[in-house]
Amino acid sequence: MWKGVIEAYRMFLPVTDATPVVSLCEGNTPLIQLHNLPGLFNIAAEWYAKYEGLNPTGSFKDRGMCMAITKAKEAGSKIVMCASTGNTSAAAAAYAARAGMACCVLIPEGKIALGKLSQAMLHGALVLQIQGNFDDALTLVREITAEYPITLVNSLNPYRIEGQKTGAFEIVDQLGDAPDFHFIPVGNAGNITAYWKGYTEYFSHQKSTKLPKMMGYQAAGSAPIVMGHPIEHPDTIATAIRIGNPASWQQAVAARDESGGLIDMVTDDEITQAQQMLAGHEGIFCEPASAASIAGVIKYAQANRFESGQRIVSILTGHGLKDPTRAIEIASRPVVVDRTKAAILKVLSPMLESA
Ligand SMILES: *Cc1c(COP(=O)(O)O)cnc(C)c1O
Repeated sequence: MWKGVIEAYRMFLPVTDATPVVSLCEGNTPLIQLHNLPGLFNIAAEWYAKYEGLNPTGSFKDRGMCMAITKAKEAGSKIVMCASTGNTSAAAAAYAARAGMACCVLIPEGKIALGKLSQAMLHGALVLQIQGNFDDALTLVREITAEYPITLVNSLNPYRIEGQKTGAFEIVDQLGDAPDFHFIPVGNAGNITAYWKGYTEYFSHQKSTKLPKMMGYQAAGSAPIVMGHPIEHPDTIATAIRIGNPASWQQAVAARDESGGLIDMVTDDEITQAQQMLAGHEGIFCEPASAASIAGVIKYAQANRFESGQRIVSILTGHGLKDPTRAIEIASRPVVVDRTKAAILKVLSPMLESA
């Protein structure tokens, strides 16, 4: 039975037999080979999607939160706090509930997907909306947690990174080796940092024969690393990566440079197209930010070749149901028909003819 990432990768994590593990059986997410997109974009390599949206709260944040809450509990902490674009708050609220701890989350007003907000609320967190963006929220949370007996569970908390690196272990275990390219959305840059740590640790334990190129993608309206300076008013429909001053900026740049990879950006239109293509041609529903890792592959393939025999992994960081509002905005409307067979057949006939 799968018992979550701490039990699965205990020897690579900072836990002892006495550590009170708080888990919701996160991890062990499927690595799905894409069958239709490679042909549509003339990509000769094998292309896989790591579907992190299938974690217990619907995003990869569970890997890190499991570790952060476990260590907070071990240290005797009673309260945890985070700033969040949404998914961190959902994970923090859920794992805090599981651990019997109190949780306070600070989110940017109006810029949080509904699914995520509903999770934080129902798990019983104290949800505070501020008139400001994620970066403002994180600054406040850092100040408050430095002064009061509250544990910070943003990815500045090193245990978050420890938990999240298990995503890289799973990919290597699933593929039998590291991929050639690792495409990932970049927001606060904790996840690209964590994956690079995981890949290099596994490599040094001879669990893989190579290291992937780390290919990070920001949204064009929130691309501080690409621009080379913080963005004061970040903007994108991909709210999970709407971050102007990433906390792990230096580590992301190091992962890029050490791996011979790239940090680039994709527009909201490219993100939306990628989300639709993945849903419509592969049957996989991810949230907008996650689709940056698909849009990144498509963009990269326009100017560069992927060779057959190479392997690409795109990290689908969160589930599409997190942001139903956006999905409904971009998809075609349901057709209203009379309650008769004739009316239905009339609308259905083009489909029957083309089949
Ligand atoms: C948090 C998040 C990201 C960004 O990850 P970082 O570690 O902040 O770079 C991307 N996609 C989704 C769905 C997220 O929840």
